[in-house]
Amino acid sequence: MDDTNRPGDGWDEDEDGYGEPDLPELCDECGVTIEDEADELYALVPDSSAINDADPRGDGKRLLTACSIDHLAQLVEVYRRRPFQPEELWAAKVCRELAQTDGPVTLEALAVACDLSPQQAQSGVDWHNARAREWRHRFGGEP
Ligand SMILES: [Zn+2]
Repeated sequence: MDDTNRPGDGWDEDEDGYGEPDLPELCDECGVTIEDEADELYALVPDSSAINDADPRGDGKRLLTACSIDHLAQLVEVYRRRPFQPEELWAAKVCRELAQTDGPVTLEALAVACDLSPQQAQSGVDWHNARAREWRHRFGGEP
């Protein structure tokens, strides 16, 4: 099949079909589409629930996008009030590593892979287990 059989008008796909779509940003506060890139406002805030799958150096930071300075201020305030819990971040790092690991792994190996001390990795596991117990207590069954 050649390209002459492709739809005509409105077919904007890149030649290889894998082009990066240039999607507009959404305001994290109100969800409105920010049509003009020049109107996008950003803030980088500490957030122990945020991990960056592309680059672990971005772990613990969240990039906020807003349509207005008021909405950016509201978003920043939410994260200013949210406690930064290192154990939450360590738990997320451990979970990410476990998802990429086949078979059993020692805590020490896990800690090295996550760039954590064994105590930090254990604290992350403990934090995650405590949340799982809370979930089970509240909802029953498996989390
Ligand atoms: Zn907004």
